[in-house]
Amino acid sequence: MLRAGLLFLSEQPSIFRFVRANGLAKRLASRFVAGENLDSAVAAVRNLNSHGMSASLDLLGESVAAEHEAREASRMIVQVLDRIAGERLDCNVSVKLSQMGLEVDPELCAGNMRLVLDRARELGIFVRVDMEGSAFTQRTLELFERQLLPDYGDGVGVVIQSYLYRSARDVERLIGLGARVRLCKGAYNEPPAIAFPSKGDVDLNFAELMEKLLERGNYPAIATHDEALISRGRRFVAEGGIGAERFEFQMLYGVRRDLQAELVRAGLRLRVYVPFGTQWYPYLMRRLAERPANIAFVLGSVLKESARR
Ligand SMILES: Cc1cc2nc3c(=O)[nH]c(=O)nc-3n(C[C@H](O)[C@H](O)[C@H](O)COP(=O)(O)OP(=O)(O)OC[C@H]3O[C@@H](n4cnc5c(N)ncnc54)[C@H](O)[C@@H]3O)c2cc1C
Repeated sequence: MLRAGLLFLSEQPSIFRFVRANGLAKRLASRFVAGENLDSAVAAVRNLNSHGMSASLDLLGESVAAEHEAREASRMIVQVLDRIAGERLDCNVSVKLSQMGLEVDPELCAGNMRLVLDRARELGIFVRVDMEGSAFTQRTLELFERQLLPDYGDGVGVVIQSYLYRSARDVERLIGLGARVRLCKGAYNEPPAIAFPSKGDVDLNFAELMEKLLERGNYPAIATHDEALISRGRRFVAEGGIGAERFEFQMLYGVRRDLQAELVRAGLRLRVYVPFGTQWYPYLMRRLAERPANIAFVLGSVLKESARR
């Protein structure tokens, strides 16, 4: 109930305008977002790299409603790519198609993606297409499979969410195509007609899809903080003789840093997803919805910090 409420609020732009001006909310966001500009994001990535972790930068922004905004976002992502290359960071980028203008015009979106992917290819940087709510699933996979994958191959990858019933079929097809897949549970509010309502089923489906990808996929990314699933994945690769260079774990900036360090110590590859930018409100609300205890936790630490000043 609380999760659904927080996810509903994540889609209300009028609330964002109010929240963005609020200092407390900004500090709440800073636990999950590496600042509002590229300099702060680069500093966060450098720090992760110095601890043996790779990163994926996400310029926050989604559901863009105007052509000029989508073009501007793609130009900004090109700047992010140039900065990654210039600073020799161990880092790729993650992009949302709705930020590239998918809702405005699919052709505009494809053109913006090509601008990003052409530059990424020149620089040798991988680009991941994030997966958004179910209104975008089919369109995202179509654009990926019909246009981006044939032209950019291993330079581009996509995301599959284990809460969707359709994902088992999608994973099989993507494995057949040799596509690079990130597997996550899914962060949006989806109805039982298309998504498993129970967490147990989402987790079980994650485990099954993870094993398929680890066994037959093209450098899959296992994106979760779920210790049971991570342990299961580690057992599966150990028993199957699957080398650590054939896959990576991924986690979110600011979430389970202890577990992140543990995987690196164990000699496993770990990439941290590092969001930055001014459009942090929907992202923050999704993180709070995943774990409503975060509201109390983050508020508590902000208040403690304020009391010390
Ligand atoms: C690298 C990466 C990329 C992602 N990309 C996408 C995407 O493209 N599309 C999409 O829909 N979703 C994406 N997600 C989000 C994902 O779908 C889940 O919503 C999110 O990862 C929480 O699920 P979980 O697998 O960690 O498991 P859960 O069962 O939700 O959590 C397991 C444990 O992890 C910890 N945890 C989880 N979330 C939080 C949090 N917010 N704060 C603090 N602790 C937490 C808690 O200890 C919890 O008990 C991504 C996640 C990661 C890690």
